[in-house]
Amino acid sequence: MTNNCVFCAIAAGEIPSFKIYEDENVLAYLDINPFSNGHTLVIPKAHSSCLLDSSDDSLAYVIAAVKKVANHIKTVLPCDGFNILQNNGAAAGQSVNHLHFHIVPRFGGANDNIEFCSQKGDMEELKKLAEKLRMI
Ligand code: AMP
Ligand code: ZN
Repeated sequence: MTNNCVFCAIAAGEIPSFKIYEDENVLAYLDINPFSNGHTLVIPKAHSSCLLDSSDDSLAYVIAAVKKVANHIKTVLPCDGFNILQNNGAAAGQSVNHLHFHIVPRFGGANDNIEFCSQKGDMEELKKLAEKLRMI
């Protein structure tokens, strides 16, 4: 397998995929374990492992393709909304170490669970954290 990377192998055509979009730099195909109907992955063809390992130019190209594919999915499927998900590192749930953006179509209704875990913020703690993290 190319690079020992399953998504490089898909980009090289060594592994089949349910391709829905392709140009010289990017590929989009259905996720084989979908969160929802139409769950799609968009990858750069050139290998980079995650967001921080990718050039700004490559990211700009890929996110423009994500927009194009998401717009198409929303129109053709159709869906009411969609989440863009992009995991970095095993702690964040990244299981394939080739940069990819998930497009997860959403349909509303009781069965479409879009809950993320959140807890009410402590304003003092948030103030301290903002001071620690501030870049400007
Ligand atoms: P992540 O957890 O963000 O690394 O997402 C990796 C995604 O790739 C998972 O949702 C998998 O279901 C999906 N996946 C793994 N192998 C394939 C494959 N051969 N074709 C399509 N999707 C895949
Ligand atoms: Zn790869």
